[in-house]
Amino acid sequence: MTLLAVLAALLGRADSADAAWARQPERLVAVCSTTQVADFVRQVVGDRWEVVCVLAPGQDPHTYQTTTDDARQVARATLCFENGWHLEGADWMRKLAENAGKPIVTCVDGLEPLVIEEEGRTTNDPHAWFSPANAAHYVRTIRDAVVGIDPEHASEYRSRADAYVLQLGALHQWALRELADIAPDQRILITNHDAFGYFCRDYGFRAVTPVGWSTKDEIGGGASIDRHDEVVRTVRSAGVRSIFVETSINPRMMQQLAEETGVVVGGTLYSDSMGAADSAGESYVGMMRENVLRIVSGLAIEPTAPRRASADAPER
Ligand SMILES: [Zn+2]
Repeated sequence: MTLLAVLAALLGRADSADAAWARQPERLVAVCSTTQVADFVRQVVGDRWEVVCVLAPGQDPHTYQTTTDDARQVARATLCFENGWHLEGADWMRKLAENAGKPIVTCVDGLEPLVIEEEGRTTNDPHAWFSPANAAHYVRTIRDAVVGIDPEHASEYRSRADAYVLQLGALHQWALRELADIAPDQRILITNHDAFGYFCRDYGFRAVTPVGWSTKDEIGGGASIDRHDEVVRTVRSAGVRSIFVETSINPRMMQQLAEETGVVVGGTLYSDSMGAADSAGESYVGMMRENVLRIVSGLAIEPTAPRRASADAPER
């Protein structure tokens, strides 16, 4: 073999190695609307997919306005994921996916909704992730969708989903034990908006809120006078010790309510958004645990001195 032939053979091999590298499938990309949905997707796909979340921690899904960068991210998506039941105000995630011609998975599909009646209209309460049993449904829906796209790794997705569903079951049992410290007549959860309906159903609480199922109500003219009056009445008649603000919502309304009724703000609860990276609420399990601990510390113990808003409230 001449030197030229050897060189040609080596170059040829190099070419074919390059070609093999170039043929490697690109990493699958999931684009998710909310921080909770993105966490559930990550739990199922691990490092095999790139997971992009449109909302940053602390952003409000009801009022979010999409950007050109969101459209660019969705254009790269293999599969899009939304919560559904109009949590994403005006269905912004569905519109992003449809405009880009991308398939979208709606995590609440197949769940039994809590139905809210508001001003003569009924709506499915979209905050379904607040029940760990519902969260397991999100995870199974996500698992089936990714198995459909990438069946080669089905067993990996299934075992990851199974392991996480076990964690959700443990979370539920832990929450039941912790919340048992709160007397039945104190199980009243007063927050900005109707986000905690499923939590209240699972753990025997009653939710009383000045704002309805969407925070858009707050922006479009504030809480209704009827709802405001009901909150004030409930605080006074039931002797409610603490009311709570939510991480993704301006705390002003609840601070005013606290002043008006003479109770304290018992802390900040994660509602429509999880916390920032490295905070206790950066994962779904973490945000649920933080909420339970804050609710217990706000409502369980007979206060001997006026309580103050918790100093270690999660960042907004
Ligand atoms: Zn909400």
